[in-house]
Amino acid sequence: MTATTLSHWIGGSLQPGGSGRSGDVFDPATGAVTASVPLASASEVDGAVAVAADAFATWRNVSIARRTEIMFRFRELLVANKGDLAAAITAEHGKVLSDAAGEVQRGIENVEFACGAPNLLKGGFSHQISTGVDVSSILQPLGVVAGITPFNFPTMVPLWMIPNALVCGNAFILKPSEKDPSASMLLAGLLAEAGLPDGVFNVVHGDKEAVDALLVNPSVQAVSFVGSTPIARYIYETGTANGKRVQALGGAKNHMIVLPDADLDMAADAVVSAAYGSAGERCMAVSVVVAVGDVADPLLAAVTERAKAVRIGPGTDPASEMGPLVTREHRDKVAGYLPAAAAAGARVVLDGRDQTFDGDGFFLGVSIIDGVTTDMSCYTDEIFGPVLAVLRVADFDAAVQVLHDNQFGNGTAIFTRDGGAARRFVDQVPVGMVGVNVPIPVPVAAFSFGGWGDSLFGDSHMYGPEGLHFYTRSKVVTTRWPDPATSAVDLGFPQNL
Ligand code: NAD
Repeated sequence: MTATTLSHWIGGSLQPGGSGRSGDVFDPATGAVTASVPLASASEVDGAVAVAADAFATWRNVSIARRTEIMFRFRELLVANKGDLAAAITAEHGKVLSDAAGEVQRGIENVEFACGAPNLLKGGFSHQISTGVDVSSILQPLGVVAGITPFNFPTMVPLWMIPNALVCGNAFILKPSEKDPSASMLLAGLLAEAGLPDGVFNVVHGDKEAVDALLVNPSVQAVSFVGSTPIARYIYETGTANGKRVQALGGAKNHMIVLPDADLDMAADAVVSAAYGSAGERCMAVSVVVAVGDVADPLLAAVTERAKAVRIGPGTDPASEMGPLVTREHRDKVAGYLPAAAAAGARVVLDGRDQTFDGDGFFLGVSIIDGVTTDMSCYTDEIFGPVLAVLRVADFDAAVQVLHDNQFGNGTAIFTRDGGAARRFVDQVPVGMVGVNVPIPVPVAAFSFGGWGDSLFGDSHMYGPEGLHFYTRSKVVTTRWPDPATSAVDLGFPQNL
């Protein structure tokens, strides 16, 4: 199979890369190189931003009704092309097709939210707030905004950003992950088919050089980032130092707390689903189980039994429940945590390296590490693979303390039949998204997504109401039409009478 050469999408058409630099894109199930992605130079990025700035000048004046109509059409096209999008995701990311289709569906939710723009973008109005005076507030777009996205959700995460940004009247530059860039090209094609004017949405492929160019370009007003914590911190610091509005979502270490009164089967099913779905390459994956009191032994037995039964294979095989990891390097890095854990004194109950696979795909079996302590690298690091750490604690308070001592605060879940304990947990944990008997509490699109601690840099969560807020600036207009006209010189501070 010959590798495809991908292009950028700028000004409504494919633009071949001109930097002379490119990256390989792999099929993780076979290890084969399937595409070459151009890596943009700073001047190519600046060119795309200039195109977007030109398009913004017109797009900002297009009515909200017309922008919404385009979103409705985009939503219909996404639904009709869900299969193609899922196939593109599986081919470059490796996750199983059903999971990829689920990702697209969760992305579509955000388009549906944005279709509510005529209601959501209503400003405020107060008639006769002062004698003869009316006050209104309006929401205006920022200009050119950029989205920089991770490999693990090549459709859903861009769709956390694009619909709200566009419907608010901004022009958008997407810098997708260079590991799985093809889904973003499908999104570009569907937006064009939906009637979006050329230049309002652009895709520039690249690596650090392209990202840095976006961070310093004065026409880029805001940056939405999703990725690992060190890069999120860098994006936030560099973007804000260059005067931009920045929301930067980082990595995670999500704990699932299981209390002794929990429904054991439900908890064990949830652990296995949330730890190994998408090979653990989800920012909301459960990577640590905190077993409280005497639930630890029966829970570990139930989880181990289920984990052994997880069917691993190519994402295109309907029998597969878990696919390969995204790259060979990442697979090897994840596998490296297992001997490190054993050397540190933990017990590797299930070692994913023991499972062998035919071919050169980036597969790794599922792993469970028991007896983990909070100083071990398998606990302190975000592994981002199918490795589950089991932490045993004596009681509820000790479980809550574990979360307070952790650097991340993206998601967490508690499994219990005790409503009071669950309510206390929700109240006390320093985490942005909490599940009660729900292992992966990703908020629906009408709410906003974001963690606490080192899982988010900036004030604004992503999508939903906070997403709209992020992509708009408000203006308050005070109007006086005295009828009949009256006026007098008055040097005092304006009073409301
Ligand atoms: P990553 O940080 O390596 O890459 C994210 C983006 O940043 C990519 O577009 C990449 O090209 C760019 N990038 C990489 N290195 C850079 C550098 N030195 N300078 C500037 N830009 C750079 O993340 P990833 O491996 O693609 O994705 C996995 C990570 O994303 C995990 O840490 C995961 O937890 C996180 N994630 C977080 C959320 C969330 O909502 N909090 C959601 C999905 C993924």
